[in-house]
This record gives sequence, structure tokens and C-alpha cells, in this order.
Amino acid sequence: MSVGTAVRSGGAGVAMQLELRKDLARHLRAGHPWVFRKAIDRAPRGLQAGAIVDVVEGGRFVARGYFDPHSAISVRVLTRDAAEVVDAAFWRRRVARAAQLRRELVSGTTGYRLVHGESDLLPGVVVDRYDRFAVLKLYSAGLTPHRAHIVEAIRAAHEDLAGVYGRDEIPRDDDDERDGDSPAPAGRVLWGAEPPERIAIDEHGMQVLVDVRRGQKTGHFLDQRENRRMVRELAAGRREALNLFSYTGGFSVAAALGGASHVVSVDVDQDAIALARENFRANGLDPADHAFATTDAFELLAAYRREGRRFDLVVCDPPAFAKSQRAVDAAVAGYASLNRAALAVLAPGGLLVTASCSARVSPDQFFDAVKEAAYKARVDLQLVRETRQPPDHPISPQFREGRYLKCLVLRRAG
Ligand code: SAH
Repeated sequence: MSVGTAVRSGGAGVAMQLELRKDLARHLRAGHPWVFRKAIDRAPRGLQAGAIVDVVEGGRFVARGYFDPHSAISVRVLTRDAAEVVDAAFWRRRVARAAQLRRELVSGTTGYRLVHGESDLLPGVVVDRYDRFAVLKLYSAGLTPHRAHIVEAIRAAHEDLAGVYGRDEIPRDDDDERDGDSPAPAGRVLWGAEPPERIAIDEHGMQVLVDVRRGQKTGHFLDQRENRRMVRELAAGRREALNLFSYTGGFSVAAALGGASHVVSVDVDQDAIALARENFRANGLDPADHAFATTDAFELLAAYRREGRRFDLVVCDPPAFAKSQRAVDAAVAGYASLNRAALAVLAPGGLLVTASCSARVSPDQFFDAVKEAAYKARVDLQLVRETRQPPDHPISPQFREGRYLKCLVLRRAG
């Protein structure tokens, strides 16, 4: 490593060089955005979080990114162009590029993801838009020194915004998992107006109330938007529906609007269940016609099974199971047993809509877990739909970790 070697980066700032120890240049040149700590020689003491560094191989430029001393991912790549300087204009270009994709491909909703991290060439940066408010989530300490530029870039790309609210979620250890259930971090206004207690968005004609301050993640799970719309269609003519891990009731309201006469929403998060009731009302549905349970989904399934209760539609969208690569086998087993329990309460002819948002569990592994569940539950299933995340959660082919959401629709033979 060339400690202390300072190079001119594109004529402007000066970037520290970090020599690659492992044969990673190929992946990085192809577009993979992560450089793990173990892949580079030790960084010079005093190199600050957020420092712009050049990753080099044999002294030759490979990629430029930001440094994070607290994460197992030491450098996240911002550019593979040696001439591209990371300054205010850089962040503006990147966010504008992300905004362009949304203008072209996202419609029918006032809630969508403006920036989806790595897959928008902005690793660690997530921005969700709810009506006229943007919520910015930084997932690395290496981004906080760049926050002002990022906020400025969001404003420049979206002139009709009323405010930008910030809610970082920065792991301080070697945990690179971003979809675990870390405690809700405190947020603050980064620019403009204070967001209201509830921001109402219109998602394909369905009203969703979002609490950007206290809600999970940025307040709402936008990645399931198209699947909620699908559930609204699939619910036609079905009587009893069960929404496991309902959060604020997105799939529940969709099912009720689609025709399900009685929907049970289950979540351990009390605030989420309270907001689920509000979401029913916001859509002209009386929550008293439906049921809400603040309880553990596994326990409720066991109780329903004992009672012999059956549902015509079951939605199962749990939080990510695999928190580390080592936990993948346990996660796959977890999906198998959860789906087995869900199938035990599915009526013949009923539909199971089952999802996995664990990046580390592949589509094939998830499919196999469901296969095992069907075998153990002794039911015949037919896969009728298979979906992924929507275009505002794009996937770079070089970043397979970005392909995290899997959703299967299965019909139980009647
Ligand atoms: N389907 C939802 C998002 C679900 S996120 C939507 O479309 O908006 C996962 C949810 O599972 C979270 O709300 C979390 O509170 C809940 N959860 C986690 N563990 C649980 C458990 N054991 N039983 C019930 N809910 C749980």
C-alpha cells in the first residue's frame, strides 16, 4: 500500500490510494460497488469516514469511492472514471440520473423510491418520496460528510418538494446487513418544511398514510407496491383473508378494496397496527368489519391451525431472515416452516402470496423452501405468478445483492 501517496484526482481534490490485496479489480471494473476491509491493505491511520479514496491495483486506478472505517465494507465505489471528481456536481448528476429513471418508468403513485443505493450508483444512499416529502436514509458513516451535497442534489432534481427529512441507519460494527430490524433511528428535518404526522400517498388509487418519523425504515415499504396492486386484483370474490406481518396494513387494505369481506392483519408492532386501522378508514373501509392482532405471526398461525380456521387468501411478507451469510441455512429453514404453517390455514382453492426480502436467500432457495413447505403440509400447489421488485428499485446486474425481493403466488388445489 502506498501510505501517504496523494494523487491528483481529476485535477481537483486529492484522493488517497488504497492498494487492492485481493484479485478484485475485475469485479470492481465490471461494476460491483463494494470493497471489503479484508480486500485492501490496512488504511492509513487517521483516514476519516467519508474520505474519497482511489482503489488501485499495482498502482493502477480501478475505482474511486468513499471510505468507511466502521463497516466491513471499507470502500463503496462512486465512480470507475478516474477523471470524475466527487464534488457537489457529482451528487447532482447521480441523483438527476436516478430521477430520470423514475420519470420514465414509475407511474400511478405519489410514493416511490427516488434513489435505490448501489443500483443507482449511489451506494448506501436511499431516498423515498412520499407526496411532497423526501426521506433520506444514509447507511454508512462514510456518507455523512457528504450529506449537504446529497440533500442539495435531491432538491435540484425535484423542484416541487416541500421538505427533506433525514433518518440515518448506520451500522457501527461489521454488520453489513441493511434489511435487519435495527431500532428506528431518530430523524430530523434536513431542509424545508416539517413533514406532517401522517403523509397521505396515493398508490394506484389506494390511500396510504405514512409516518416518516416513527414508521419502520422510511415509513412505508414501497418495494411491495406492485404486489399490493396484484393482491387487490387477486382478492376479488375471496371472503376470508389473512395478512401476516402486515405492518400498516398495505396488503390488508388492498385485499379489502379488492373484495375480501374479512381481513385479519397481524403484526408485532403496535404502532403499525394502529396505523393499519387508520389506513382502512382512509379508504372508506370500516376497521370494525375486519380484525387486527398485535401478536406474533407464528403463534397466531399455530392457534388458527388448532381451531381449524381457513383463509381464502394468505399474504406472508416477513422481515429479512438472514442477517449474515452464515445464517442463510437457518433462514431457508425458517421460510420453509413459516410457509408450512401458512399453508396449514389455507383453504382448498385458496391463494398464498408469499415473499422474501432477504438478499442472501436466492430465488431458487426461496422456491425450494416453499416446495418443502408444500410437501410437509401435504398440499398440492400451483405457482401462478412470480414477481420481483418494481422499477424504482432497479437492480444492477453486477450487484446481485440488489436482487432481494421475491414474491410467489401459489394456488392450493381445490
Ligand atoms: N407487508 C408489509 C411490510 C412488512 S415488513 C407492507 O406491505 O407494508 C415486516 C413486518 O413484520 C414488520 O412490520 C414487523 O413489525 C413485523 N414482524 C416482525 N416479526 C414479527 C413476528 N414474529 N410476528 C408478527 N410480525 C412480525
